[in-house]
Amino acid sequence: MQKRILVTNDDGVQSEGISALAEALAPLGEVTVVAPNFEASAIGHALTLARPLRLERVADRIFAVDGTPTDCVNLALTKVLLGRPDLVVSGINKGSNLGDDVTYSGTVAGALEGALMGIDGLAISLERSDGPFDFAQAANVAATLARAVLRHGLPARTLLNVNVPRIAARGFRATVQARRNHVTSVREALDPRGQAYYWLEEGQYDWEPHDHSDYQAVKDGWISVTPLQPDLTDHAGLATVGDALRDLPLHRPAEVE
Ligand code: MN
Repeated sequence: MQKRILVTNDDGVQSEGISALAEALAPLGEVTVVAPNFEASAIGHALTLARPLRLERVADRIFAVDGTPTDCVNLALTKVLLGRPDLVVSGINKGSNLGDDVTYSGTVAGALEGALMGIDGLAISLERSDGPFDFAQAANVAATLARAVLRHGLPARTLLNVNVPRIAARGFRATVQARRNHVTSVREALDPRGQAYYWLEEGQYDWEPHDHSDYQAVKDGWISVTPLQPDLTDHAGLATVGDALRDLPLHRPAEVE
């Protein structure tokens, strides 16, 4: 039976990245695009609960939602595909999704939502370059990995976070999430009415060195493939926290020492 592939992103349904992705995956099965109708980068795994959502058919098997990538996956399964696809592929994002930044990423969240529903997921991001984005290599990578995942499957509740370098890649590398030294940069200015406003700026790239990190792999010209899972538990820290909790009184301390 023909495989069903759901494609989403966070750059919006009009992004060239999602068109390149859908086109590359077309030979592998029936591709359906359900994506935000606006640029939803850095929206993370957000779900829209406080207002209604609209689902608009843009073209044959292409749908736009005025919501997040996570909303898109949920509407796709319940209202478009009327069931589960074999694979969710999110991207191709304009810009990397590396290390600690994956928690902000709407691109990763699209694939994560699939993983939470028991569907294999891929998130594909392309490193920024000075010129316009060239999605050709990343699209080929997406098709290659999608074919492999459709054939062999992924472990339960696992998704692959794939980052493609802007240069011709040397090959694939399995990687871990890099750690970023977060430097918050907030620009302050005055609006025309003299009120202060603030603009969060993208942090400087300041990464802790690590031989096997996603950041290092892309920097060295490799395609980074990081297996992610939704369980954020620090399993190694569980015993320490348990020990610390054991003697804590349930009542509020009478006074501060
Ligand atoms: Mn994006």
